[in-house]
Amino acid sequence: MQDVADRVSEVRERIANAVRRGGHGQAVRVIAVTKTQGTGAVEAAYRCGVEDVGENRVQEALDKQAQVTVPVRWHLIGHLQRNKVKALEHFWLLHALDSRRLAEAVDGVGRGRARPVDVLVQVNVVGEETKGGYALADIAREAEWLQACAGIRVVGAMTMAPFDADEATLRRVFAGARSAREALRAAGHAATELSMGMSGDYEIAVEEGATMVRVGTVLFGERH
Ligand SMILES: *Cc1c(COP(=O)(O)O)cnc(C)c1O
Repeated sequence: MQDVADRVSEVRERIANAVRRGGHGQAVRVIAVTKTQGTGAVEAAYRCGVEDVGENRVQEALDKQAQVTVPVRWHLIGHLQRNKVKALEHFWLLHALDSRRLAEAVDGVGRGRARPVDVLVQVNVVGEETKGGYALADIAREAEWLQACAGIRVVGAMTMAPFDADEATLRRVFAGARSAREALRAAGHAATELSMGMSGDYEIAVEEGATMVRVGTVLFGERH
């Protein structure tokens, strides 16, 4: 617990310094990624002032939600299968809207409940085959298409950098996601958020304008 508190303050301090260096002046929300960790990690994060928690699997998140008593906001940060979109009811924000087919299913959920689902559009800046997301070149067209989805509210963009990328690549990826957010805005979406940066690269992501960082290992140690 003390350990997590110390790590949270160090992360916050590093973020504050990165905001200064980057010059974007943005506020940054820390999302504690608790996948594979027990519910104790969620509670520890909350007690340290981190009110946002990220999970990449629906079932694991729902199991934890059933046990956790602290009022955190649950972020779904991993790929969502179309047959599980009903579960969006239990999440504050979907980070990985990554295809038109998924968007159609999410749109249906939002229309059905008469309140749009908040989403981030995932962008795959360097075209990694192993990762989901739209190509940067497709964002403007998808942004137009998403305008017709009354059940979806696009609040920003999300990206994941390639594992082991060098600094130049990281900056290219993060700046690419920032330009995706601008394209969403240009199409009329109220896209203010930029979810990018993990334990190994969050400082560079913040320098490039991240408003949400998704960090697990740096707060809780290696996953098992
Ligand atoms: C696991 C995961 C993270 C956090 O990774 P760390 O390196 O432990 O900080 C961030 N984003 C996504 C989408 C993840 O799946």
